[in-house]
Amino acid sequence: MRRRVSERYTILIARTGKEPRALSFRPVVVLLVALTFVGWAGVTGYFYARAAALRNTEARLAQLSEQARELSLQLSREQSRNDALAGEAATMLKQLDQLESQIDRLRERAGLPKLKVTPTRGEKTGGDGQGGGVPLNTEDMLKLTAERLKALTGNLSSKIEPALEQTLAREAARPVGYPLRVKTYIASGFGTRHNPFGRGYEFHDGVDLPAWYGTPIYATAPGKVIETGWSNIYGYHVKIDHGFGYRTLYGHMSKILVKRGQTVKHGQVIGKVGSTGRSTGPHVHYSVFVWGKAVNPVSFLEAPAYAKR
Ligand SMILES: [Zn+2]
Repeated sequence: MRRRVSERYTILIARTGKEPRALSFRPVVVLLVALTFVGWAGVTGYFYARAAALRNTEARLAQLSEQARELSLQLSREQSRNDALAGEAATMLKQLDQLESQIDRLRERAGLPKLKVTPTRGEKTGGDGQGGGVPLNTEDMLKLTAERLKALTGNLSSKIEPALEQTLAREAARPVGYPLRVKTYIASGFGTRHNPFGRGYEFHDGVDLPAWYGTPIYATAPGKVIETGWSNIYGYHVKIDHGFGYRTLYGHMSKILVKRGQTVKHGQVIGKVGSTGRSTGPHVHYSVFVWGKAVNPVSFLEAPAYAKR
């Protein structure tokens, strides 16, 4: 067996002009130094690898969060666009409701029945009344709005307008107000009355409105003069046809200022107050006929509600 006492590792460091320096180590020291180096390198390598992985993860995380941010931005843009559309649709539906009630008023004026305000969502939903007030999504709301608008517009032009024109023409033809522009009163009303010239009763087919001799008499609606001249009852009188079954008669005139066949406007002077015919003093006898039948002129003396505003 060999003794391993003096086995050593020596490092010689050469120096210019001087003796070399010798550094001598025991093997165990060399081994320790070597082990220390290997350990340090391993630890460093480990941490280096860990740090690299961490950096990788961080980068990936940053990328992901950027993507998420983008997505949420996109989503909120979409959401606000959707909200805006829904708001718009709701506003349109509200306006439609107002439009419908306006149209209903027009229909009432035109003498048509009221609209049946039910959403036109096809025949299927009409079953048990459901689906009427259920909030719809934006797309459905817009579709519904467009359908209702189309229906209303069609209704307006095809039904209401012609009926309304007819109504307006009829209303314009309706006699309105007094045939006098001076203060007067109903001296003798419509209906059965005592005979002012003798005994018994008679039917008075109009109202008697006293005024000074010569006071102008006005047509109470536009129309065409169909009768002028003398009669034993009404004296000098004028009869006007206004259309739509309306006719008016003005009696006991002192002077007739229109000719038969002449067209007159509402408010046009047609004659002057007198006491001709069967009369006891200056006044105008005013009759209103509807489809040939004398009616009480009282309801025609006051302007109807639609004409008052
Ligand atoms: Zn009379």
